[in-house]
Amino acid sequence: MILVVVSGLTLVGIALWRVATTPTSQTVTPEIMGTTTHLTAVGRRADLGPALDAAQAALRSVNRTMSTYDPSSELSRINAGQSPDDIAPELGAVLEFGLHMSSRTDGAFDATVYPLVQLWAKAAAAGRPPDDAELADARSHVGWRKVSLTMDPLNPQPATQPGGRRWVLRMPVGTQITLDAIAKGDAVDLAVAAMRTGRHLAGGMVEVGGDLRCFGRPADGGFWRVGVQSPWEEGRVLMRLRPLTDSGELCVCTSGNYRRYYEIAGKRYSHIIDPATGEPADAVPSVTVIAPSCMKADGWATALSVLGVEKGLKLVEQESGVEAMFVTGTKDNPEYHYSSGFKKYVIEE
Ligand code: ADP
Ligand code: MG
Repeated sequence: MILVVVSGLTLVGIALWRVATTPTSQTVTPEIMGTTTHLTAVGRRADLGPALDAAQAALRSVNRTMSTYDPSSELSRINAGQSPDDIAPELGAVLEFGLHMSSRTDGAFDATVYPLVQLWAKAAAAGRPPDDAELADARSHVGWRKVSLTMDPLNPQPATQPGGRRWVLRMPVGTQITLDAIAKGDAVDLAVAAMRTGRHLAGGMVEVGGDLRCFGRPADGGFWRVGVQSPWEEGRVLMRLRPLTDSGELCVCTSGNYRRYYEIAGKRYSHIIDPATGEPADAVPSVTVIAPSCMKADGWATALSVLGVEKGLKLVEQESGVEAMFVTGTKDNPEYHYSSGFKKYVIEE
């Protein structure tokens, strides 16, 4: 009798243990950084809520530092000419990457395009394209070589420690910076790191407005499948991508003119500016990039939108770990242009 009760309890115990340890998943979809987000954590039930909270906090923190829409963000204060010295270590690291992207892409990526971004936004609000004088004035303030970002060489402590090394930023009056082209990717990377810190998740995924990073496995134990959307029909999936390694790690980013654009007198203009002309870059409907980090994928997706298929693919072939796929043509006749390593991520369906 006792034996039966004991083994009964053991069975109940095993069943409860199974429930507690079989990975389950939880998803939240808060609106952050002015866009939709999807965050999924897979693991023990007790870990999921805290993991998702930590990831959301990381997204919000990047926004507080780097948003150009929030006048009290550190970047907005820098753009307003307040205290360009001693900038936050996170901001310094992202800006440093932005400058690196400029030198890799011969200025197709340029964080100093902000005066042009504002000019085109103003033009859209006024319902007419900017005139030559306005364009010339904005362009006179643009150019990544105007920005000097250095790390104070005398302090040996890492930048992330209190009292550690400091970034020193110098730029002329009138020069303004937007990190919008890489901040979302950076936020996704930091959110995934925050999700994983201090807990063993079976998998997870963070997506912010077209920038996605996943790791491990989804709750069904298979592998993550990442849909690439059509630039012409929101919600229509053109192809699916998968991670190639057991780690389940994949960073994918799509830049397209379907989500954000200016409309002036019935014509759509991209929100990506070609720094060489000051005009919106309308060469390609969409570019999808796979890279070792989401920030890198994000930066390349923006740069490739400016460079176009031919120049873009040439540069990407020289960049280790970065693969790209352009979509051109029309809705009924889409054309795909792949870098040499992209297709191995595509799921044949
Ligand atoms: P999305 O992922 O929404 O398509 P992107 O990552 O391409 O956006 O970033 C677009 C934003 O980057 C623009 O709104 C603008 O602030 C900024 N930007 C525009 N053109 C450039 C450029 N050539 N280099 C760097 N940043 C740019
Ligand atoms: Mg980008």
